[in-house]
Amino acid sequence: MNHLKTLVRTIPDYPKKGIMFRDVTTLLGNAQGFKAAIEQMAAPFTRANVDAVAGIEARGFILGGAIADRLGCGFVPLRKKGKLPWKTIGQEYTLEYGVDIIEMHEDAIRRDERILIVDDLIATGGTAEAAVKLVQRSGGEIVGATFAIDLPDLGGARRLAAHGIKCHALMTFEGH
Ligand code: AMP
Repeated sequence: MNHLKTLVRTIPDYPKKGIMFRDVTTLLGNAQGFKAAIEQMAAPFTRANVDAVAGIEARGFILGGAIADRLGCGFVPLRKKGKLPWKTIGQEYTLEYGVDIIEMHEDAIRRDERILIVDDLIATGGTAEAAVKLVQRSGGEIVGATFAIDLPDLGGARRLAAHGIKCHALMTFEGH
């Protein structure tokens, strides 16, 4: 099996029954695993002239900050509503029950800047799709999206492909 996959801890029925929570803190806590994950998540984009990584709160900050350092580019935080101190633009997305909003500083991305979206995991793709819309609304050009984990049964990668966004992931897990 993929060595990095053995470093992800699976917690059944968290945060609720039926969900297999894929916990990357065990991967982040392993020096070689963390380094390899950052290298591999960044690898397809080293020659993509990325201007900034847009990382999704919260685990996307840890991975995204390190990837930005590796690519020699900036970092833009996409945060849950009400957390950013300056003027923001927001994007709603649908959860299983209800809606949520992610926000970005309105001046964080300039027109035609080349942006790489980063998060730890893509499931339904709702969060990443909201990130894509936020970046595109501010005039950024998305060069791709990179994740440690894809849950292909939930269709997130296909959802991003419908926007013309290429999705890169280091490992997959079946089911939810
Ligand atoms: P989605 O919007 O459905 O693609 O969900 C992606 C977001 O929810 C990411 O920020 C993940 O960290 C989190 N997430 C969704 N499902 C899981 C899971 N099974 N294990 C860990 N995190 C998850």
